[in-house]
Amino acid sequence: MKTGYYPGTFDPITNGHLDIITRGASLFDKLYVSVSCNPEKNPLFTIEERVILIKEVLKDIKNIEVVTSDILTVEHCKILGASHILRGLRAVTDYDYEFQLTNFNREISDEIDTVFLMTQGKYSFLSSSSVRELAQFGGDVSKFVPAVVKKAIDKKYKK
Ligand code: ADP
Repeated sequence: MKTGYYPGTFDPITNGHLDIITRGASLFDKLYVSVSCNPEKNPLFTIEERVILIKEVLKDIKNIEVVTSDILTVEHCKILGASHILRGLRAVTDYDYEFQLTNFNREISDEIDTVFLMTQGKYSFLSSSSVRELAQFGGDVSKFVPAVVKKAIDKKYKK
């Protein structure tokens, strides 16, 4: 059984994440979507809110489990029996960071490898931070996030 582990902050989950998760779920028997606490990033949504939204968005994909993490990614993979970390790549600007992170993780544990899925062109500019920024200025985020996430964003900004 091949198990993958897709870590992120997901503040909030976007259509870009969803694309990577959907395609990733077809590559693994089981895929963990792991939400990191990241309090230092001062998230818009609490970890509980992010988990509820992700579960709702992914409820029809059977081989996915949503978990939270405040430990090292490779350690969490070992605990859960995941052999591969899944990451999404957008533009070349992601490359440096992901290259460094992958090699760092490999240095900590060479049992866990990282695989990348290239985003579809239409999501290559999309990030959680750009969605938050757009929402903050009253813009329409409906093209970039699932409907339940849009609703939650509207509620945050009391639209
Ligand atoms: P982090 O803050 O740890 O980078 P994110 O939630 O921003 O967490 O991203 C988690 C993963 O999803 C990363 O591999 C990131 O490159 C990827 N990702 C984010 N947005 C997109 C997108 N639009 N298309 C493809 N992958 C994406």
